Amino acid sequence: MSSPLQEAAQRVAKEFDYSDDEVFKAGKHFITQMQEGLLKDGTSMSQIPTYVTAVPNGTEKGVYLAVDLGGTNFRVCSIQLHGDTTFTLTQSKVAIPKELMIAKTAVELFSFLAKQIELFLKEHHGEHFESHLRRRNTVSSPTGYRDEHIFKLGFTFSFPVHQIGINRGTLIRWTKGFDIADAVGKDVCQLLQDAIDALHLPVRVSALVNDTVGTLMSRSYTSPGKTPTVLGAIFGTGTNGAYVEKLSNIKKGLEGAYDAKTGEMVVNTEWGSFDNELTVLPTTVYDKDLDTASVNPGIQMFEKRVSGMFLGELLRLAVVALYKEKLIFTDVAAIEAASPLNTHSGVDSSILSVAAADETADLAALRKEIEVQLAVKQASVEDAKAIKTIAYAIGRRAARLSAVAVGAIVVQSGRLDTTSSSASGEVSEDDIVDVGVDGSLVEFYPAFEEHMRAALRKVAGMGEQGERRVRIGIAKDGSGVGAALIALVAEGMDVDA
Ligand code: ADP
Ligand code: MG
Repeated sequence: MSSPLQEAAQRVAKEFDYSDDEVFKAGKHFITQMQEGLLKDGTSMSQIPTYVTAVPNGTEKGVYLAVDLGGTNFRVCSIQLHGDTTFTLTQSKVAIPKELMIAKTAVELFSFLAKQIELFLKEHHGEHFESHLRRRNTVSSPTGYRDEHIFKLGFTFSFPVHQIGINRGTLIRWTKGFDIADAVGKDVCQLLQDAIDALHLPVRVSALVNDTVGTLMSRSYTSPGKTPTVLGAIFGTGTNGAYVEKLSNIKKGLEGAYDAKTGEMVVNTEWGSFDNELTVLPTTVYDKDLDTASVNPGIQMFEKRVSGMFLGELLRLAVVALYKEKLIFTDVAAIEAASPLNTHSGVDSSILSVAAADETADLAALRKEIEVQLAVKQASVEDAKAIKTIAYAIGRRAARLSAVAVGAIVVQSGRLDTTSSSASGEVSEDDIVDVGVDGSLVEFYPAFEEHMRAALRKVAGMGEQGERRVRIGIAKDGSGVGAALIALVAEGMDVDA
């Protein structure tokens, strides 16, 4: 026997269904928008060329530096690549002083960053650093020391930049509380290099790095075997992907220099804005409300249905609607005004994972989460059951939408067009299509990959054959090892600037 609450929850869950047919159509549309983005600027998906034209296969060796300026902290690390898909990472982290975020000149901030690199080198690479100083003092010409003594550095810079080469990109604007007018329009790699040179450090800024590209690179290095990874995808606070495209398919102008020898280039899709026009994306009343109340209505429409920043809010809106209908929390005296349920974006997506993981009859873990996270005491088992039903539907839809992006890119990459194995039997090493993923949602949401795979089979051009060939693995530390690897491939590039 089903109660009105459970019936209502089932009804809401049904609104979040995303059928096989819709997945099929969306996959086709995704490919259309990818191709549009390769032709011209100003399209739904930006398809930004990254000037990275090679991905590692796990045999790379050497010591590289990586720095990450993302908002709150500045991270410096060195990565030793052992050449056997493994690496050792050493790192330090420092908070950016508030006054430097709003400094008068870019030099003030970048001098601080260079100083941190110097401290890191002294502490962790003292010997190398000292021998560099000795060489500097004995060689009369400042360019006299040999190139192999110079550390190559990958610079992960998480602000909007207009990239014009593998280690060149001008700052479009600051975000996240930074405001240094003097830096806008300048090449951030050059700003860092100048500050490094002022301290005479043996470091060259070799690559400007986006986190999705870092994910792709780190997975390609660490994945088993030598099969290169085709896609790096992030399902965390936001969602985005970078993949390996044929150079000949990138029809819009490339302004910077790059090495054309591989015939490929990594493209940053910015797929969070796939189908902003809502031609194929599913839309419930909750999706509409979420978008209207957001800071950027009408954009990032794919991201608003898929990523961690929004799934908790969809659940909140659905639960609040049930509460207004007096269907849920009927035994609860009143919901506190301060409850996250009454706060825009108050509910963290991690509750979806708790709901999906709790298979007990009395849903003890989920009820505890409802008490702690939603500040609703004495929620009944029935209440929790309804929340579980809805949370499951929201998580499953997100995973199925993720499959649209992953599947369409695998098809577009052309990696399924060749096959070495017979129709039956195991997928051979050569036929594996490797995909690297990162982010709390894909890492912690139970069965995210299973839901994704079920939908992957339905993407146009994939089928069961194609889906079986896709290997999905977590890419650890894209902004560290990924940035180092981009510095490595950048240095190996044969560029006519
Ligand atoms: P970032 O995107 O900043 O690199 P993460 O990959 O950790 O960081 O993603 C953080 C996002 O993931 C947040 O939106 C958070 O709500 C969500 N999240 C964190 N833990 C979980 C979980 N267990 N299940 C689902 N979503 C989660
Ligand atoms: Mg991340």
